Amino acid sequence: MINLLAKIGRVNTVIIVTLIAVLAALGATLLAVSLLNQQGYGLHTGIAAILAGCIALLVALPIAWFLVDLLLRVYSDEQEMRNLASYDSLTGLLSRHAFFDNANNYVSLARREHKPFVVMIIDLDHFKLINDRYGHPAGDAVLKLFANVTNSVARRSDIVGRLGGEEFAIVLPSTSTAKALEFAERLHAAINKAVLKFNDSAIKYTASIGLAEFDRESADNIDELLARADLALYEAKQSGRNRTATFNPQLTQAAAG
Ligand code: GH3
Ligand code: MG
Ligand code: MG
Repeated sequence: MINLLAKIGRVNTVIIVTLIAVLAALGATLLAVSLLNQQGYGLHTGIAAILAGCIALLVALPIAWFLVDLLLRVYSDEQEMRNLASYDSLTGLLSRHAFFDNANNYVSLARREHKPFVVMIIDLDHFKLINDRYGHPAGDAVLKLFANVTNSVARRSDIVGRLGGEEFAIVLPSTSTAKALEFAERLHAAINKAVLKFNDSAIKYTASIGLAEFDRESADNIDELLARADLALYEAKQSGRNRTATFNPQLTQAAAG
């Protein structure tokens, strides 16, 4: 309802509401006058109609303006709150909460439709050093640049979110591990190419990536898949950073043991 109101616009809605009020007042007045005249009151229909119309116009117009204005303000505040909850304010990527919502929905769909997909965790390497060397605003600029670079490599259907700090996750729908590894290579190359010019410095950074493919037998929800991608990420960090590692079950056993 409020969506429709926002679409029609404030002025048009006020005109429509006022017209309805005036027509309703005219209808009620004409009915009342004709009933009273049947009882022999002899009222002037034209004057009664003009009076009713003018009063309705004078009362309905400001009230409609005030109420429509209030409703539209509530609507725009609600939209803003929704945006704040759905998107990370620094990078514009999905917030952690929205990422999980979208990813969970996609997992249900992929399970029903037997589609393969891959989950990826990306963690920027030695990010603390960038903050320490160039300052926190430079670190923020790197995070923004990373988000832009990732968006330029990702497809529209990919679900890209910031899990927190310098850690990000991507769901690659309808994608095999082999294709996801190609995506990861393109991302490493794009990160390598996009040097950040910050004040007088040229800042370079790298990222490590862990990926895990959906497996309905043993990992069929997003938390399990992210846990697997995280183990692979750990492996990528351990083996030198700036690289991608794929989950393999032995990693789980090693971590559990
Ligand atoms: P590693 O390669 O092992 O991941 O090392 P790292 O330095 O990237 O990891 P660590 O967890 O030690 O440090 C993460 C740093 O990220 C510390 C924290 O201050 C910084 N950080 C987290 N969120 C933000 C942010 O929004 N902006 C900036 N500038 N820094 C952030
Ligand atoms: Mg890091
Ligand atoms: Mg981290």
